[in-house]
Amino acid sequence: MLAVSNLEVVYDDVVLVLRGVSLEVPDGKIVGLLGANGAGKTTLLRALSGLLGIHHGAVTRGQITLDGERIDHLDPQQVVARGISQVLEGRRVFGEFSVEENLRVGAHTRPKERAANLERVYDLFPRLLERRTQAAGYLSGGEQQMLAMGRAMMSSPRYLLLDEPSLGLAPQLVGSIRDLISQINEQGTTVLLVEQNASMALSISDHGYVLETGRVVMDKPAAELLDDSDIQEFYLGLG
Ligand code: ATP
Repeated sequence: MLAVSNLEVVYDDVVLVLRGVSLEVPDGKIVGLLGANGAGKTTLLRALSGLLGIHHGAVTRGQITLDGERIDHLDPQQVVARGISQVLEGRRVFGEFSVEENLRVGAHTRPKERAANLERVYDLFPRLLERRTQAAGYLSGGEQQMLAMGRAMMSSPRYLLLDEPSLGLAPQLVGSIRDLISQINEQGTTVLLVEQNASMALSISDHGYVLETGRVVMDKPAAELLDDSDIQEFYLGLG
Protein backbone atom coordinates (compact mmCIF):
# COMPACT_ATOMS: atom_id res chain seq x y z
CA MET A 1 0.00 0.00 0.00
CA LEU A 2 1.02 3.57 -0.71
CA ALA A 3 0.37 5.81 2.29
CA VAL A 4 0.80 9.45 3.18
CA SER A 5 0.85 10.36 6.81
CA ASN A 6 0.57 13.80 8.35
CA LEU A 7 2.44 15.34 5.42
CA GLU A 8 3.49 18.95 5.55
CA VAL A 9 5.01 20.59 2.45
CA VAL A 10 6.57 24.01 2.19
CA TYR A 11 7.68 25.93 -0.94
CA ASP A 12 10.66 28.30 -0.83
CA ASP A 13 11.07 27.58 2.92
CA VAL A 14 8.02 29.74 3.74
CA VAL A 15 4.83 28.89 1.84
CA LEU A 16 3.01 26.15 3.75
CA VAL A 17 0.86 24.30 1.19
CA LEU A 18 0.11 20.89 2.72
CA ARG A 19 -0.81 21.08 6.40
CA GLY A 20 -0.76 17.54 7.72
CA VAL A 21 -2.31 15.43 4.94
CA SER A 22 -2.96 11.71 5.49
CA LEU A 23 -4.33 9.34 2.89
CA GLU A 24 -4.09 5.72 1.80
CA VAL A 25 -4.00 4.16 -1.65
CA PRO A 26 -4.74 0.45 -1.15
CA ASP A 27 -3.58 -1.97 -3.83
CA GLY A 28 -6.08 -2.72 -6.58
CA LYS A 29 -8.23 0.34 -5.94
CA ILE A 30 -8.93 3.68 -7.59
CA VAL A 31 -8.66 6.53 -5.10
CA GLY A 32 -10.04 9.95 -6.12
CA LEU A 33 -8.52 13.17 -4.80
CA LEU A 34 -10.79 16.18 -5.25
CA GLY A 35 -10.36 19.82 -4.44
CA ALA A 36 -10.61 23.32 -5.86
CA ASN A 37 -7.80 25.20 -7.59
CA GLY A 38 -4.88 25.71 -5.28
CA ALA A 39 -5.99 23.15 -2.68
CA GLY A 40 -2.64 21.35 -2.95
CA LYS A 41 -3.50 18.35 -5.13
CA THR A 42 -0.60 18.78 -7.55
CA THR A 43 1.74 19.41 -4.64
CA LEU A 44 0.74 16.09 -3.10
CA LEU A 45 1.45 14.29 -6.38
CA ARG A 46 4.83 16.07 -6.63
CA ALA A 47 5.66 14.84 -3.14
CA LEU A 48 4.70 11.27 -4.06
CA SER A 49 6.78 11.38 -7.26
CA GLY A 50 9.92 12.94 -5.79
CA LEU A 51 9.36 16.09 -7.85
CA LEU A 52 9.07 18.65 -5.04
CA GLY A 53 12.75 19.61 -5.16
CA ILE A 54 12.66 20.91 -8.71
CA HIS A 55 9.75 23.17 -7.69
CA HIS A 56 11.64 24.49 -4.63
CA GLY A 57 9.40 22.51 -2.31
CA ALA A 58 10.24 20.20 0.58
CA VAL A 59 8.56 17.83 3.01
CA THR A 60 8.94 19.42 6.44
CA ARG A 61 6.89 16.95 8.48
CA GLY A 62 5.19 13.58 8.11
CA GLN A 63 6.07 10.78 5.73
CA ILE A 64 5.24 8.81 2.59
CA THR A 65 5.54 5.03 2.74
CA LEU A 66 5.35 2.19 0.25
CA ASP A 67 4.57 -1.13 1.95
CA GLY A 68 5.69 0.45 5.21
CA GLU A 69 9.04 1.69 3.90
CA ARG A 70 9.70 5.44 3.66
CA ILE A 71 10.04 6.76 0.12
CA ASP A 72 9.84 10.52 0.71
CA HIS A 73 13.62 10.96 0.30
CA LEU A 74 13.78 9.28 -3.13
CA ASP A 75 14.45 11.08 -6.41
CA PRO A 76 11.97 10.81 -9.33
CA GLN A 77 13.87 7.98 -11.07
CA GLN A 78 13.96 5.92 -7.91
CA VAL A 79 10.23 6.46 -7.37
CA VAL A 80 9.47 5.22 -10.90
CA ALA A 81 11.76 2.24 -10.33
CA ARG A 82 9.63 1.36 -7.25
CA GLY A 83 6.56 1.16 -9.48
CA ILE A 84 5.02 4.60 -9.03
CA SER A 85 4.47 6.49 -12.28
CA GLN A 86 2.92 9.91 -12.68
CA VAL A 87 1.11 11.58 -15.57
CA LEU A 88 1.71 15.29 -15.09
CA GLU A 89 -1.02 17.89 -15.47
CA GLY A 90 -1.02 19.32 -18.99
CA ARG A 91 0.24 16.08 -20.56
CA ARG A 92 3.78 17.21 -21.45
CA VAL A 93 4.50 14.93 -24.37
CA PHE A 94 7.64 15.48 -26.47
CA GLY A 95 5.99 17.27 -29.38
CA GLU A 96 8.69 16.76 -31.99
CA PHE A 97 9.10 13.06 -31.30
CA SER A 98 6.78 10.47 -32.80
CA VAL A 99 4.09 8.77 -30.75
CA GLU A 100 6.14 5.58 -30.58
CA GLU A 101 9.33 7.41 -29.59
CA ASN A 102 7.40 9.03 -26.74
CA LEU A 103 6.23 5.61 -25.60
CA ARG A 104 9.73 4.14 -25.81
CA VAL A 105 11.06 6.87 -23.51
CA GLY A 106 8.59 5.67 -20.89
CA ALA A 107 10.20 2.23 -20.87
CA HIS A 108 13.69 3.35 -19.85
CA THR A 109 13.40 1.78 -16.39
CA ARG A 110 12.13 -1.53 -17.85
CA PRO A 111 13.86 -2.05 -21.20
CA LYS A 112 13.23 -5.80 -21.19
CA GLU A 113 9.48 -5.29 -20.95
CA ARG A 114 9.40 -2.66 -23.69
CA ALA A 115 7.98 -4.82 -26.49
CA ALA A 116 5.27 -6.42 -24.33
CA ASN A 117 4.29 -3.07 -22.83
CA LEU A 118 4.15 -1.41 -26.22
CA GLU A 119 1.72 -4.08 -27.36
CA ARG A 120 -0.37 -3.64 -24.23
CA VAL A 121 -0.48 0.14 -24.63
CA TYR A 122 -1.52 -0.15 -28.29
CA ASP A 123 -4.25 -2.60 -27.22
CA LEU A 124 -5.53 -0.10 -24.68
CA PHE A 125 -5.19 2.89 -27.01
CA PRO A 126 -5.73 1.76 -30.62
CA ARG A 127 -5.66 5.43 -31.65
CA LEU A 128 -1.99 5.60 -30.67
CA LEU A 129 -1.22 2.62 -32.89
CA GLU A 130 -2.89 4.38 -35.84
CA ARG A 131 -0.72 7.45 -35.20
CA ARG A 132 2.46 5.77 -34.08
CA THR A 133 4.74 7.49 -36.60
CA GLN A 134 3.18 10.96 -36.27
CA ALA A 135 4.79 13.76 -34.28
CA ALA A 136 3.13 13.90 -30.87
CA GLY A 137 2.69 17.67 -31.15
CA TYR A 138 0.10 17.16 -33.89
CA LEU A 139 -2.17 14.95 -31.75
CA SER A 140 -5.43 16.32 -30.36
CA GLY A 141 -5.69 17.11 -26.65
CA GLY A 142 -7.44 13.81 -25.94
CA GLU A 143 -4.87 11.85 -27.90
CA GLN A 144 -2.02 13.60 -26.07
CA GLN A 145 -3.65 12.63 -22.78
CA MET A 146 -3.79 9.02 -23.99
CA LEU A 147 -0.12 9.24 -25.02
CA ALA A 148 0.90 10.61 -21.63
CA MET A 149 -1.01 7.78 -19.92
CA GLY A 150 0.44 5.22 -22.33
CA ARG A 151 3.95 6.50 -21.69
CA ALA A 152 3.43 6.11 -17.95
CA MET A 153 2.17 2.55 -18.50
CA MET A 154 5.42 1.68 -20.31
CA SER A 155 7.20 1.42 -16.95
CA SER A 156 4.81 -1.38 -15.80
CA PRO A 157 3.69 0.73 -12.84
CA ARG A 158 2.06 -0.76 -9.80
CA TYR A 159 0.61 2.68 -9.06
CA LEU A 160 -0.47 5.22 -11.64
CA LEU A 161 -0.85 8.83 -10.44
CA LEU A 162 -3.00 10.96 -12.73
CA ASP A 163 -3.18 14.76 -12.47
CA GLU A 164 -6.45 16.06 -13.93
CA PRO A 165 -6.65 13.81 -16.99
CA SER A 166 -10.01 15.31 -18.00
CA LEU A 167 -8.78 18.91 -18.03
CA GLY A 168 -9.75 20.73 -21.21
CA LEU A 169 -11.32 17.70 -22.90
CA ALA A 170 -14.74 17.56 -24.57
CA PRO A 171 -17.35 15.63 -22.51
CA GLN A 172 -17.32 12.67 -24.87
CA LEU A 173 -13.56 12.34 -24.53
CA VAL A 174 -13.79 12.65 -20.75
CA GLY A 175 -15.95 9.51 -20.87
CA SER A 176 -13.34 7.68 -22.95
CA ILE A 177 -10.52 8.64 -20.61
CA ARG A 178 -12.62 7.55 -17.62
CA ASP A 179 -13.28 4.15 -19.22
CA LEU A 180 -9.58 3.74 -19.99
CA ILE A 181 -8.65 4.47 -16.37
CA SER A 182 -11.14 1.78 -15.28
CA GLN A 183 -9.65 -0.65 -17.75
CA ILE A 184 -6.08 0.05 -16.61
CA ASN A 185 -7.22 -0.54 -13.04
CA GLU A 186 -9.00 -3.79 -13.92
CA GLN A 187 -5.75 -4.99 -15.49
CA GLY A 188 -4.08 -4.64 -12.09
CA THR A 189 -2.74 -1.10 -11.75
CA THR A 190 -3.73 0.88 -8.67
CA VAL A 191 -4.76 4.46 -9.47
CA LEU A 192 -4.62 7.76 -7.61
CA LEU A 193 -6.82 10.09 -9.63
CA VAL A 194 -6.58 13.83 -9.01
CA GLU A 195 -9.54 15.62 -10.55
CA GLN A 196 -11.54 18.82 -10.43
CA ASN A 197 -14.21 16.92 -12.34
CA ALA A 198 -15.73 15.30 -9.26
CA SER A 199 -18.50 13.39 -11.01
CA MET A 200 -16.00 11.77 -13.39
CA ALA A 201 -13.60 10.85 -10.59
CA LEU A 202 -16.23 9.58 -8.15
CA SER A 203 -18.00 7.51 -10.80
CA ILE A 204 -14.98 5.18 -11.01
CA SER A 205 -13.26 5.62 -7.63
CA ASP A 206 -13.59 3.24 -4.70
CA HIS A 207 -12.68 5.89 -2.17
CA GLY A 208 -12.43 9.67 -2.27
CA TYR A 209 -10.63 12.43 -0.43
CA VAL A 210 -11.42 16.12 -0.57
CA LEU A 211 -8.56 18.54 -0.05
CA GLU A 212 -9.15 22.15 0.99
CA THR A 213 -6.30 24.61 1.55
CA GLY A 214 -3.85 21.84 2.29
CA ARG A 215 -6.03 19.74 4.58
CA VAL A 216 -8.17 16.65 4.04
CA VAL A 217 -11.72 17.70 4.88
CA MET A 218 -13.51 14.55 3.68
CA ASP A 219 -12.41 10.95 3.53
CA LYS A 220 -15.16 8.53 2.48
CA PRO A 221 -16.15 5.74 0.10
CA ALA A 222 -16.81 7.35 -3.29
CA ALA A 223 -20.47 6.31 -3.26
CA GLU A 224 -21.00 8.18 0.01
CA LEU A 225 -19.27 11.29 -1.35
CA LEU A 226 -21.59 11.24 -4.38
CA ASP A 227 -24.54 11.32 -1.95
CA ASP A 228 -23.09 14.04 0.27
CA SER A 229 -25.00 17.32 0.02
CA ASP A 230 -21.85 19.51 0.33
CA ILE A 231 -20.17 17.57 -2.46
CA GLN A 232 -23.29 17.88 -4.58
CA GLU A 233 -23.44 21.61 -4.00
CA PHE A 234 -19.77 22.56 -4.28
CA TYR A 235 -18.28 19.92 -6.56
CA LEU A 236 -21.11 18.50 -8.64
CA GLY A 237 -23.01 21.73 -9.23
CA LEU A 238 -26.28 20.17 -8.06
CA GLY A 239 -26.95 22.54 -5.17
P1 ATP B 1 -4.61 23.32 -9.44
O1 ATP B 1 -5.80 22.49 -9.71
O2 ATP B 1 -4.84 24.78 -9.74
O3 ATP B 1 -3.34 22.79 -10.02
P2 ATP B 1 -3.87 22.23 -6.90
O4 ATP B 1 -4.89 21.78 -5.94
O5 ATP B 1 -3.19 21.19 -7.71
O6 ATP B 1 -4.47 23.32 -7.85
P3 ATP B 1 -1.26 23.13 -6.17
O7 ATP B 1 -0.83 23.31 -7.59
O8 ATP B 1 -0.66 22.02 -5.41
O9 ATP B 1 -2.82 23.06 -6.05
O10 ATP B 1 -0.95 24.50 -5.43
C1 ATP B 1 -1.23 24.69 -4.06
C2 ATP B 1 -0.69 26.05 -3.61
O11 ATP B 1 0.73 26.02 -3.70
C3 ATP B 1 -1.15 27.20 -4.47
O12 ATP B 1 -1.43 28.27 -3.62
C4 ATP B 1 0.04 27.50 -5.34
O13 ATP B 1 0.09 28.85 -5.68
C5 ATP B 1 1.21 27.12 -4.46
N1 ATP B 1 2.38 26.66 -5.24
C6 ATP B 1 2.41 25.68 -6.16
N2 ATP B 1 3.65 25.51 -6.66
C7 ATP B 1 4.43 26.43 -6.04
C8 ATP B 1 5.82 26.77 -6.11
N3 ATP B 1 6.66 26.11 -6.91
N4 ATP B 1 6.27 27.77 -5.31
C9 ATP B 1 5.43 28.43 -4.48
N5 ATP B 1 4.11 28.16 -4.36
C10 ATP B 1 3.60 27.17 -5.12
